[in-house]
Amino acid sequence: MRAALFYEKGKPLSIEEVEKPKIGDRDVLIRVKACGICGSDIHIIHGETPVGKKPIILGHEISGIVEEKGSKVDNVEIGDRVCVDSIIFCGMCKNCMSGKDNICKFWRLYGIHTDSGLAEYVRVRDINCIRLLENVSFEEGAIITDAVATAYHAVKLANIQVGDTVAIYGCGGLGIHAIQLARLSGGEVIAVDVIDDKLKLAKRLGAKYTINAMESDVIEEIFNITDGNGADVAMEFVGKVKTIVNTLDSVVRGGRVVLVGLCGEDVAYDTRKIVRGQLQVMGSYAFTKKDIVDVVNLVSTGRLDLSNSITHEFSLEDVNQALETLEKNIGNPIRVVVKGI
Ligand SMILES: [Zn+2]
Ligand SMILES: [Zn+2]
Repeated sequence: MRAALFYEKGKPLSIEEVEKPKIGDRDVLIRVKACGICGSDIHIIHGETPVGKKPIILGHEISGIVEEKGSKVDNVEIGDRVCVDSIIFCGMCKNCMSGKDNICKFWRLYGIHTDSGLAEYVRVRDINCIRLLENVSFEEGAIITDAVATAYHAVKLANIQVGDTVAIYGCGGLGIHAIQLARLSGGEVIAVDVIDDKLKLAKRLGAKYTINAMESDVIEEIFNITDGNGADVAMEFVGKVKTIVNTLDSVVRGGRVVLVGLCGEDVAYDTRKIVRGQLQVMGSYAFTKKDIVDVVNLVSTGRLDLSNSITHEFSLEDVNQALETLEKNIGNPIRVVVKGI
């Protein structure tokens, strides 16, 4: 089969003919129909995220059709349309037992620790498959498994109540979905970004207010909008020192802050503001399998519209172009997908 392999940092992925994976008793073989490209893939190629083996087939946002199944697989059938939870959770640790399989103690990932979806076929465990319901395309299924589910998990943690004002920093692949989900939860959204086109889309998808952080003082604007109180909730999807500080400064006393963007630098912050403001500051990491199931359901029933989310599609042969599109922000991509056979 054809696959995109990562060998060394800084080198483009190599498209090669490799052996089709052999499955075990509890595995399924999926014919990949779509695989999303993610910022994490770029981090891997830059050598910022170590991989479990080299070469490795990248791509952790997978959907496709079940082609083969192991002898002990009961819940997945050949021909099923599925997407894949990329987190290889153990199912037995304390966190898995309490439904937090996103932070499993023995956590590993398809596409970082083992071969994954930028190929014609991928082998995954049966329990990592989630059936795609009616009206959910393969492309949507692929991005649901990361970009949308990560935003969903963060919005759930934010515990948004009807009428809450929610400031969302970053209107890219994650933030744009958080905006829609915060609205669905009853929140009124203030979207913050530095690119006008992204803010326009944010508005179209339900943000009541937009702020271009290059043009105005974000904190002043947020306090103006909220009658001097601050937002009830603020969420950060950028991962930069400045936006993290702004996010913390955006909320009302007693407000909730959810950090999702990964920032490689230390952030200096006067923690007295957190103490005196009695802020609840939370990190939100990835998604649980249940989150993916919930999002598939939201899309299938038409409550969540992903028709604006996939802006660029490439073939497997053009995977390096797909990565460049995301990395260099060519044509303002929201989500970039590689289409399978
Ligand atoms: Zn990802
Ligand atoms: Zn576990």
